[in-house]
Amino acid sequence: QTRNKEEVFEAIDEFNVRFVRIWFTDILGIPKSFAINPNELDGAFSEGMGFDGSSIEGFARIHESDMVAKPDPTTFQLIPWRQQENAVARMFCDIQNPDGTPYEGDPRNVLKRNLSRIKDDGYSFLVGPELEFFYFKGENNTDVLDNGGYFDLTTADNATDLRRDTILALDSMGIDVEYSHHEVAPSQHEIDLRYKDALSMADTVMTYKITVKEIARRYGYHASFMPKPIFGQNGSGMHVHQSLFQGKRNVMFDPGNEFNLSDEGRYYIAGLLRHAPEITAVTNQWVNSYKRLVPGYEAPVYIAWARRNRSSLVRVPMYKPGKEAATRVEYRSPDPAANPYLAFSVMLAAGLAGIANKYDLPSPQEQDIYHMTDEQRAKAGITSLPGSLNDAIHITEKSTLVREALGEHVFRAFIANKRAEWDAYRMNVTQWELNRYLPLL
Ligand code: GLN
Ligand code: MG
Ligand code: MG
Ligand code: MG
Repeated sequence: QTRNKEEVFEAIDEFNVRFVRIWFTDILGIPKSFAINPNELDGAFSEGMGFDGSSIEGFARIHESDMVAKPDPTTFQLIPWRQQENAVARMFCDIQNPDGTPYEGDPRNVLKRNLSRIKDDGYSFLVGPELEFFYFKGENNTDVLDNGGYFDLTTADNATDLRRDTILALDSMGIDVEYSHHEVAPSQHEIDLRYKDALSMADTVMTYKITVKEIARRYGYHASFMPKPIFGQNGSGMHVHQSLFQGKRNVMFDPGNEFNLSDEGRYYIAGLLRHAPEITAVTNQWVNSYKRLVPGYEAPVYIAWARRNRSSLVRVPMYKPGKEAATRVEYRSPDPAANPYLAFSVMLAAGLAGIANKYDLPSPQEQDIYHMTDEQRAKAGITSLPGSLNDAIHITEKSTLVREALGEHVFRAFIANKRAEWDAYRMNVTQWELNRYLPLL
């Protein structure tokens, strides 16, 4: 249920809300928040709440740090893991400059700007992400809670209760969950959200991650969305199912065409494939992200598409072939540690570039690409995703598509931050090097 301003004030009275937390994200997708007294809310809706943005990653420099947070009443929800007495609620906000214009460093604003590109055509961008994550016994270890595997129904499984409480909490915040199950790796889980428009889904992804972590903490455990926490096990992905709708019409659907895909659907996939290397720094933004994108763990490495093949980057799921609403494109490289506002923005930009320029779609690759030889792949014209954050940054910094999608401010701040991240890693001497080189050299 979404509320308007009046309904927010009614809910505050009805549930005796004493604190309203204002939520936003920095460019890395890290949640940020401050609490306001409900008495301030009237002013917050009309004028916004001023704050100092200079210490938020990717926000303003010190001499232009006055920012204004304008809460979005439609996102008002009670926070279910806080007490019922003197309740706490949250609202996402848009960040503005003091003159009331949208702040270009705000990721939520970046996504809004990208979505406004398709509004004129009456299009909406619908996304359904599948976020995977691990439960660990603590914050500084990878001790697993179970040794289950894919779809296992383990007995005395603490995680079953954890998942249930998480889903109940999400439900109370108006978030629809479609599936949840144990994933392939020990202590790895997935809770799948029902698809909806990209802006509301990006907010929901933020809420989901916070909720999973908060519920785990209640049980004394640590939930992590780190892309590849355990060497030799599957990493955690965030496959993103995408479609474009014009009213009730699925723009990607055409029952008369091969795979039930319309021309727009085919161009969209071609756009994702062509621009995949450029957008990877955004969809996979950490040093650790690239340890997931290796052969053998159901994560994509090679740039290809297929209907079923799970080693491919783009899949056209065929659970309900011929069903209009179910026709969609699944992009499989993103990980759940991406900033969802920015990740949705660059994927949309890539797909739209495919439509605008009518890119050719190569033929699908239904065989297991991991097990092809380099020659076979070269012959089939299959290239790879960047192999490291460093490679990814080098490609992204030359990308006009990403520069335009993120906007100059976020683009620059993002590249600078990621370069620093890579340097911090590069200078480190790892355990792997010690194990390998000390005995040998
Ligand atoms: N964990 C795999 C990944 O990294 C996906 C596994 C699956 O959902 N089939 O993307
Ligand atoms: Mg899944
Ligand atoms: Mg999965
Ligand atoms: Mg999937």
